[in-house]
Amino acid sequence: MTPTLTSTRDYLAAQISDNGSIELRHQIGERWTTGWFDDLDRLVRQVDRLRDRGNLFTSLNGPKPRHVGNGMTGSPICNGDVAWVTRIPFDFDPCRPTGVSSTADELKAALGRRDALVAMLRKLDWPIPLHGLSGNGYHAVYRVRLPSNDETTEMFRSIYSGLAAEFADDEVDFDRSVKNPGRIFRLYGTRNRKGPDTPERPHRDSACWIPAPWRQVERRLVEDLANFYARRSTPAVTSSEPRQAGPRIGGKGDYTTLDVVAWLTAHGLYRHAVDSTTHSVWCPWRDGHSTPHGRTGAVVFVNPGRWPGFHCHHGSCAGRTIADVVASLGDADAYCTAAFQGGRSHV
Ligand SMILES: [Zn+2]
Repeated sequence: MTPTLTSTRDYLAAQISDNGSIELRHQIGERWTTGWFDDLDRLVRQVDRLRDRGNLFTSLNGPKPRHVGNGMTGSPICNGDVAWVTRIPFDFDPCRPTGVSSTADELKAALGRRDALVAMLRKLDWPIPLHGLSGNGYHAVYRVRLPSNDETTEMFRSIYSGLAAEFADDEVDFDRSVKNPGRIFRLYGTRNRKGPDTPERPHRDSACWIPAPWRQVERRLVEDLANFYARRSTPAVTSSEPRQAGPRIGGKGDYTTLDVVAWLTAHGLYRHAVDSTTHSVWCPWRDGHSTPHGRTGAVVFVNPGRWPGFHCHHGSCAGRTIADVVASLGDADAYCTAAFQGGRSHV
């Protein structure tokens, strides 16, 4: 692997090859113009005419058949225009004041987070992605070919929520809106002009590197990851008997009523809500992680009527479930609102 940067032309060639046609969008201040292209030469000439001013973006995914004018006339793509999802983009953007470019330190933090995600997905057999620099943050873009439908939308929702819980915090943001199929993305090789161009927060050129070959992610791997994060059921009871304790109830708690947020907050392990059912937490075993990455942690899922779920992606935590967290912290019973009645009511 030689990290030679991919030219804007080669990036656009891959976009046209996978999508048939693509939208080019140009922004100067409040003014946006849009055009559709399937002719690479005309597209590259158009980009060269526009690149000295403003910002350039392209669509990511494959549109339904539409008029392609090969000039800057046409309408912006929306989610309903997409027939095929051909890219899974991940975008790590440093948290900073709005409307300004990143500092070097902020960029470095985003790079670490992006690389940690790529490393994790490599362990799950995902191929090497496009590596991108937006100018202000870092990208990993995977090739895929999935119909743009409700099922794909749901898989992406699950994946982006799960990954945001693990990889985002108050230092680096993980953009969950890029899962929308009509999303546009920075055109690599063009300058990112965000806010004033200052020595501390300079305008930078975006760039990307595409691996050869740029393999598609198999559908089953996308499904596996989505199911993994969507999993709402928890594991059967393990041999570790939870300790009996608790001021709220006598005896053992019914863990389908465990207030996992209050419980983990009491142990200093709670971080923040990701969405209505997913929470970012610190892994109780984080000191044993062999490959820590920044300040990332683990995830718990709240499952009404069931045990909560727990997941930490670090190798040393493989196979650990909420039952292990219960055994480790010892006082989960105190945070249940009902006592365990016997049987296997949690499944
Ligand atoms: Zn862990």
